[in-house]
Amino acid sequence: MDLRSCEPWWLLRNGIMWNYPSLVRSLTCDVAIIGGGITGAFISQRLAAAGLAVVVLDKRSIGEGSTTASTALLQYEVDTPLHILEKRVDAETAERVYRLGIDAISSIETLSRRLRVDCGFARRKSLQLASRERDALRLEREVAARRRIGLSVRLLDRERLARERGWGHACALETPEAAEVDPFRLTHGLLQRARRDGARVLDRVEVTRVRPTARSVLLETDRGATVRASHVVFATGYETAAWTPKTRTRVVSTFAMVTDCVDRIEGWDDRSLIWETARPYIYLRRTDDDRVLIGGGDIDSATASTRDRLIPAKSAYLARRLRALFPTLHFDVDRAWAGAFVESEDSLPYIGRSPKHRRLLFALGYGGNGMTFAWIGAEVLAGLIVDGDHPDATRFSFDRARRTAS
Ligand SMILES: Cc1cc2nc3c(=O)[nH]c(=O)nc-3n(C[C@H](O)[C@H](O)[C@H](O)COP(=O)(O)OP(=O)(O)OC[C@H]3O[C@@H](n4cnc5c(N)ncnc54)[C@H](O)[C@@H]3O)c2cc1C
Repeated sequence: MDLRSCEPWWLLRNGIMWNYPSLVRSLTCDVAIIGGGITGAFISQRLAAAGLAVVVLDKRSIGEGSTTASTALLQYEVDTPLHILEKRVDAETAERVYRLGIDAISSIETLSRRLRVDCGFARRKSLQLASRERDALRLEREVAARRRIGLSVRLLDRERLARERGWGHACALETPEAAEVDPFRLTHGLLQRARRDGARVLDRVEVTRVRPTARSVLLETDRGATVRASHVVFATGYETAAWTPKTRTRVVSTFAMVTDCVDRIEGWDDRSLIWETARPYIYLRRTDDDRVLIGGGDIDSATASTRDRLIPAKSAYLARRLRALFPTLHFDVDRAWAGAFVESEDSLPYIGRSPKHRRLLFALGYGGNGMTFAWIGAEVLAGLIVDGDHPDATRFSFDRARRTAS
């Protein structure tokens, strides 16, 4: 699967940060992690620090799957608002998922500081705009639902938005718990720490066959050499293979662009993350070198040729949306790219053991906030591998798809 089109911004900004060897001889380890994106990075750092022998394998160069295409807004809200998610799954799970998102952001901050990973982590407010007049009621319901479970949220009314930002929206929901990060630097930084704790990080090696037995799992690769592991973690992102359990999902494409460096933006001094109630929605943030990074314009196709063809039109659309929010801003589009995106039916990631084999575990962060889901995946899978269980495991299991369906 082509995960993305054109060179995304982070790759150009950071260049080749580290080189990793490939697999040249067969290895044995406690845990083999397939996928060296942000999900594989969180999990490998965690398991290597716990003293396990870890091998990470990626068929691309490290971090060059969806992770480098991400706009990397760290938000705790999943794509379904709390007041709707409470009905779609159950109130307890909905509340827990929202809280896990908040914990994930704090934990990423703490970890990156503790490990001194220079990844541009910065706390931001998140501002969700009412795209249409009638969405105001939806945001009011959402504010009430979040306050009921004790979350800190504010509803900014029309007058306030007009006065402080110069916008004409009916209202916006503001939360203090959000952040931004450079996902490429974070991924490499975590993998470097994992290496120092003994992990072997290997790229340009594709796992072609997975052969589980009662005592271990044998991974065959396109390099001929094999990896035998007690457990295998699939942190393979949006790519599915024969061994991926059945999920209730759909694949879309999303588009992104970055502007050149811009002057002060009136009405955006606080550098909030901005998104909206419309579906599909636009999502935007600033970068640490004063650009604007904006994504959206999703379409129901994951075909690379369709995506490629649409990039100029979609970047023009994103530029129009940016101008509509900040009419005095002068900018040029510096880069535009696109990527595949998988959404689950209930907006939750799939994290847990394969229903067919307990030594195969998955962390598939499907949904708008794959970055925070990556952290949650690392938490849950570390619990399953190290302690044999995790209190939140059943919420994200493949099995829950059957529960939702029945
Ligand atoms: C344009 C865009 C904007 C986004 N914006 C945001 C955002 O603002 N906030 C947010 O939270 N999320 C966002 N996302 C989603 C987020 O980027 C992803 O959820 C996240 O990067 C997934 O990370 P990952 O490590 O799971 O997958 P990936 O980064 O894709 O890593 C998986 C790796 O597995 C490897 N792999 C797969 N199969 C094999 C195999 N058989 N053998 C060896 N290696 C294999 C691949 O090569 C790949 O490198 C965005 C995505 C896109 C495309």
